Amino acid sequence: MTSVRERSGEAPSRLLSVEEARDRVLAAAGGPLPSESIAVGDALRRVLAADVRSVTALPPWDNSAMDGYAILASDTVAATEIAPARLRVTGEAAAGAAASASVRPGVALRIATGAPVPAGADAVVPVESTTPLGPDGSASGPRGRDASGPLPAAILVHEAVRPGESIRRRGSDLDAGARILLRGDEMTPPAIAIAAGSGVTTVDVHRRPRIGVLATGDEIRGPGEPLGPAGIPDANGPGLRALISDFGGEPVDLGIAKDRLDDVRARLERGVAEADAIIVSGGVSVGPYDVVKLGFEAVGSVDLWRVAVQPGKPFAFGLAQRPGEGADAQPVLLFGLPGNPVSSFVTFELFVRPALRQLAGYRRLLRSVDRAVLEEPITKGAGRRAFLRVQVTRTDDGRVTRNALGRVPVHLAGGQGSHVMSALAIADALAMIPEADDSLPAGAEVDLWWLDRG
Ligand code: AMP
Ligand code: MG
Repeated sequence: MTSVRERSGEAPSRLLSVEEARDRVLAAAGGPLPSESIAVGDALRRVLAADVRSVTALPPWDNSAMDGYAILASDTVAATEIAPARLRVTGEAAAGAAASASVRPGVALRIATGAPVPAGADAVVPVESTTPLGPDGSASGPRGRDASGPLPAAILVHEAVRPGESIRRRGSDLDAGARILLRGDEMTPPAIAIAAGSGVTTVDVHRRPRIGVLATGDEIRGPGEPLGPAGIPDANGPGLRALISDFGGEPVDLGIAKDRLDDVRARLERGVAEADAIIVSGGVSVGPYDVVKLGFEAVGSVDLWRVAVQPGKPFAFGLAQRPGEGADAQPVLLFGLPGNPVSSFVTFELFVRPALRQLAGYRRLLRSVDRAVLEEPITKGAGRRAFLRVQVTRTDDGRVTRNALGRVPVHLAGGQGSHVMSALAIADALAMIPEADDSLPAGAEVDLWWLDRG
């Protein structure tokens, strides 16, 4: 199949900007994935493939906002604290049942919060504004007594109640058929609550992207495996799978490949058969054992890009066709990320996450951008955009500190080498240092990508 570079007619050596590289990935990635209909209660973090409309109005009928008495407001126009209105209590309206009687002049029905307003009533007086009376007309309990216990024979109402008071009108929250959620919205807990609460039982959501993750390197060891003289534990496999689960995708563990083409290729073939995208870490440089590019070429097509970013070079992107599928089917995306854990994390953020969000059906593909101010001077390589791992300060109650202009003061989370995982692990955000600056003084303002917020 045509390679991504051939399509763009590009010489391989030119340094791409972050935006150029990302635009190419997004243009080639296709998506979103097909949709399926699932129960609302199972839809957490799924992305809607169609707008959602309420089935019922909310509330579905006029109901009471208070525990109290359903009345006619006109019965209370002259009521005051010392000259209350007296109303006979003829029954009650409980939540979950239609009222047993209707309200007429001079009559009240006890009503619970959420119970349907009985016929005839046009207001609810809260129990706090009433005094219960016994059959002999004397007070049977204190003013404002809670509305549980035996039904009083009558009540005194100590205030003038306006028509409509303490009644939640049918449809005052939502009309039946109202558009409550939009295609491309993520199903959050409140989204699930409003869909379920307005009578929706199933929603159309995009299939969750299945993402193969393959670590490579003769030195990489699985969990608990002895390291021997030259082994290191696998950080990228578990780290990348966690990034995928965290964004709502389904990771497929393709294991750890030796730096041998046959091993890499066999695992890529499994990934192409099972996954919507494959992320490989390590082995994409041009070293003697870097066989990932060859592996990608065996299952599809790939370009090795030199992106003007730090950390993150090199980065490979390609496409594979699933065996037996036509050329216009959704391709399997192939991402080759640098092996250094910080580089693989940053390139995931820059290029992979937006593409996976496009597959998943999100409208917004990029993280929200904030503005930061550097608390210390920084230096970086010229001509490349740097993504520094930084920390913010928080007040004791967890508030992010901002200066008078609303900028977030940031300091380096630790060493900025692409192998320094300890700084990544404690970073709150990535600070973006433009290509043109090889150093910036303390006090300089830069863009900030929060790592813990979509
Ligand atoms: P490579 O991109 O394969 O040249 O790897 C660059 C550096 O990243 C080397 O020091 C590797 O040992 C290290 N590295 C590669 N893959 C992993 C991994 N899965 N976990 C931890 N470190 C890795
Ligand atoms: Mg390697």
